[in-house]
Amino acid sequence: MAGFRAWAAKSPDGGTAWRDASRQGLTSLALPEEHGGAGLGYETACLALEALAEETGRSGLPFSLAAQMWACQEPIAAFGTSEQRARYLTPLLVGDAVGAFAATEYDAGSDLLSLKTTAAPAADGSWLLNGTKTFVTNGPMADVFVVLARTGEGSTLASLTAFLVPRGTTGFTVGKRIDKAALDGAELCSLELTDCRVPGEARLAGTGDGVAVLMHAMRYERAFILAPTIGLMARALKEGVQHARMREQFGRPLSSYDAIRQRVVRMHVSLTSARELLHATARAADAGTLDHQRSSLTKLHVSTEFNRFCTELPDLYGGYSVLAETGALRLVADAVASRYYSGTSDMQTKIIAEGLGL
Ligand SMILES: Cc1cc2nc3c(=O)[nH]c(=O)nc-3n(C[C@H](O)[C@H](O)[C@H](O)COP(=O)(O)OP(=O)(O)OC[C@H]3O[C@@H](n4cnc5c(N)ncnc54)[C@H](O)[C@@H]3O)c2cc1C
Repeated sequence: MAGFRAWAAKSPDGGTAWRDASRQGLTSLALPEEHGGAGLGYETACLALEALAEETGRSGLPFSLAAQMWACQEPIAAFGTSEQRARYLTPLLVGDAVGAFAATEYDAGSDLLSLKTTAAPAADGSWLLNGTKTFVTNGPMADVFVVLARTGEGSTLASLTAFLVPRGTTGFTVGKRIDKAALDGAELCSLELTDCRVPGEARLAGTGDGVAVLMHAMRYERAFILAPTIGLMARALKEGVQHARMREQFGRPLSSYDAIRQRVVRMHVSLTSARELLHATARAADAGTLDHQRSSLTKLHVSTEFNRFCTELPDLYGGYSVLAETGALRLVADAVASRYYSGTSDMQTKIIAEGLGL
């Protein structure tokens, strides 16, 4: 598993933050014991992601862990054979490996079913993959990739197939890191697949089941990818209140001015309503009743409230918001990004509207 180890050896903390989080059980909290998890459920897992984000004040690490948990581990647990789970899921759960999900392409963003990466069957039962992926979270350090490829014509539900491709497979090239202005600490890259041959057993589920794998991953990712943002908002609110109480203008603390008090209350309302919905969704998942409508509603609502929160946050600090130490503008960038990954807010709205019969 050269991906994570090689990346860890070069990273400033030697990869300990990631390894510790996994070894202390964060990535395995939600999965059932039969799959090597702790069986403690989604609400507990979300609380742990929140706590990690609140404690560190950083978005990249919990976002990256969450991306692995929801878009890589979940589908391997649900669709993987016992050999696939032993080979890939076990190392992911103990922090010996990192996983990624590669669906997006340059011309296939929101319109994912139009993706062009192909997988062609060979006479010996192997498959030949060709294409380019982008925006692959964890790609620079991942050891295993869930790759979506076209095995049928058009945008039908049966036109795609998912493959588990280990790093180092001939014809599989991990591209350069994507330089981004949000989610500091998360690593993204593109992938090139050029006559990348994988055995028939690399298929995750059957031929033509790629959309089912995608939808399963998105059901969990859309519901819970924003769990860390609850912790980030909680920390920012606490620090903002402290600043408002300490800083004086016109001989009085900022916290004595109605404009500031109302701003803080609006931030508190955003945080509370985002947290309440996300936790209720996690309880629905624990009860086995999580559906796509609820996942999209959660993603849309939490990202909307996160953005609302971040509209207010810099104004608590005034000019000091531009200082890196307040973290205010970093959070604004994270809030903007939250409207796009795991499907944009427009796409979540489309799904919710369709569910309402529109
Ligand atoms: C930080 C980050 C991490 C990511 N990680 C991964 C990953 O690990 N794996 C992966 O596969 N992908 C990943 N993605 C990709 C992500 O899923 C896509 O960015 C997302 O689906 C949107 O696609 P796009 O960026 O190409 O936007 P586009 O599809 O080009 O959309 C641009 C704008 O047009 C709007 N739009 C598009 N079509 C319509 C329509 N029909 N009606 C109304 N509005 C529309 C969109 O809502 C958006 O506002 C990541 C993205 C980001 C930002």
